[in-house]
Amino acid sequence: MEQLTLRGVSKSFGSLQAVNELDLSVGEGCIYGLLGPNGAGKTTTIRMIMDILAPDQGEIRILGQPNSSRVRDRVGYLPEERGLYRKMKVGHLLLFLAELKGVKKTTAKERIDYWLERFDLLGWSQKKIEELSRGMQQKLQFIVSFLHSPKLVILDEPFTGLDPVNINLVKEVMLEEKRKGTSIILSTHLMEQAEKLCDQICLINEGEKVLDGGLNEIKANYGKNTVVLEYEGQADFLTDKEVVESYDDYGKWVEIHPSPGINPQAILKRASQEVTIFKFELVEPSLNEIFIQTVQKGKE
Ligand code: ATP
Repeated sequence: MEQLTLRGVSKSFGSLQAVNELDLSVGEGCIYGLLGPNGAGKTTTIRMIMDILAPDQGEIRILGQPNSSRVRDRVGYLPEERGLYRKMKVGHLLLFLAELKGVKKTTAKERIDYWLERFDLLGWSQKKIEELSRGMQQKLQFIVSFLHSPKLVILDEPFTGLDPVNINLVKEVMLEEKRKGTSIILSTHLMEQAEKLCDQICLINEGEKVLDGGLNEIKANYGKNTVVLEYEGQADFLTDKEVVESYDDYGKWVEIHPSPGINPQAILKRASQEVTIFKFELVEPSLNEIFIQTVQKGKE
């Protein structure tokens, strides 16, 4: 069953078309990346799903049903703006929110202990929210979105404010929950994380869908036409449009897109004339590269 379906959903703010006739379909037990540059319309889309904003037109179905407060109670939601009751104690807040979503007290208490321990927050249960660091509050909000064991979870920029250890923990939990059959919508700018986690992606730009489908298929469609080059020296050829259409500099290596009709061997030849090569590999483009290419194409 489709866990979330959007058909022709639009929203404008005055003359700005923030989301334009968007169609989405999220299946069971998958991580679905809702991706796009700043201002693309991701948060507006999520807010319409959560009924914080009313769509101007279009249909939203959640867990196979028309959008209603009842069905939304079965959705986990991590909003972009975090806002927890600052004066409440951690344990009380979690219990209050779990019971609000219909979880029985005994079950809620068990789950709260489990999650607090999982996120290394057990010792903070009696502290007020305002005493927690930003990252700890972020972890707490992440816990809130899973506390009632929802079948569908929407995470708007879940990695914000987290250190690498906690980013890994959040990723681990997302993958575990997915394996249990939960569908997770992940809105993020971090393409590296999206690439590791997402089964499906939808890339939106200026409110319109510009690319969607299975991540593996999308990457395979681009083919192994990208060169990863690790080198030392002055690589002037990178700015020679006759051989290199575009490149992304990652510091330690560059990801190169050959110009149309240019064989990667020609790149290898030019590179070897100018720099010392440590690694030369033909790969599928990274999601970051696909993102940049697709968004830039839209601007041409
Ligand atoms: P980011 O990645 O920067 O968070 P986003 O993809 O989530 O961006 P949205 O927050 O959905 O983008 O914004 C889409 C567009 O709608 C932007 O141009 C934004 O300025 C505009 N917008 C969003 N909310 C409002 C609002 N309440 N009133 C007016 N304009 C808005």
